[in-house]
Amino acid sequence: MKIFINMYVFVVGMIFGSFFNVCIFRIPKKQSILNPPSHCPNCKTRLKPKDLVPILSYLLSGKKCRYCNIKISRRYALVELLTGILFLLVYNKYLIDIATINFLVLISLLIIITFIDIDHYIIPDEIIRTFTPKNRAKIFLDVLKNPLEEYYLFKVDDRPAGIASLAKSHEKNMPDYIGEIYSIYFHPDFWGTEATQKGFQFCVNRLKDLGFSEITIWVLNDNLRAKRFYERNGFKLDGNSKEIKIGIKLLEVRYSKKIL
Ligand SMILES: [Zn+2]
Repeated sequence: MKIFINMYVFVVGMIFGSFFNVCIFRIPKKQSILNPPSHCPNCKTRLKPKDLVPILSYLLSGKKCRYCNIKISRRYALVELLTGILFLLVYNKYLIDIATINFLVLISLLIIITFIDIDHYIIPDEIIRTFTPKNRAKIFLDVLKNPLEEYYLFKVDDRPAGIASLAKSHEKNMPDYIGEIYSIYFHPDFWGTEATQKGFQFCVNRLKDLGFSEITIWVLNDNLRAKRFYERNGFKLDGNSKEIKIGIKLLEVRYSKKIL
């Protein structure tokens, strides 16, 4: 089974690699990466599905265009193979995890950037723009369209000071009366001010108003500052912990408190 999954990931990686070849070739020329469909750069013949199988088409056609016989650079096969191998390495390191998606996207962009840079000595703005705050914000806005939690922004004198999200606990087999503060973050400028205490109290009161009688909060075990804060507010470690992976493994522990 494990070998089967690995082969699957490798083949999917190579198919992506085949698409990255198109990106590497067309993005610097400001051509669409979707239209026209793949064709031989020399004779312009539109490639058929049998010409688009990563690596195999290249080897079986004798490393030449099947239609005009021009030699095909081994670079195309190399990019496919490299992408397949890197996808396989990422999958084996992080398995199915949010980190996997992050690293696959990052590796994909780096492969495209690297080969465009080799060919043209440029790194196209189109790719760099993927990393701008505006595009990152878009990812979060998409999440907010279908919220599973209530989100709050705390302001002090009209300046954003912190954010929080809360709802019924999403944990499996948790009774309906348990609410959870999923996230609460304050800008360091506001640490130790009454804004953090007010914001936190707001979350507790809001969950109480929603009818929950117990609240849980997960916190990184190393976040001593946050742990002290929750303890001062009457929360206690309830003995639950879990490992999370965001590139590295971290331990999270759960605090809870009855509020009725
Ligand atoms: Zn051709």
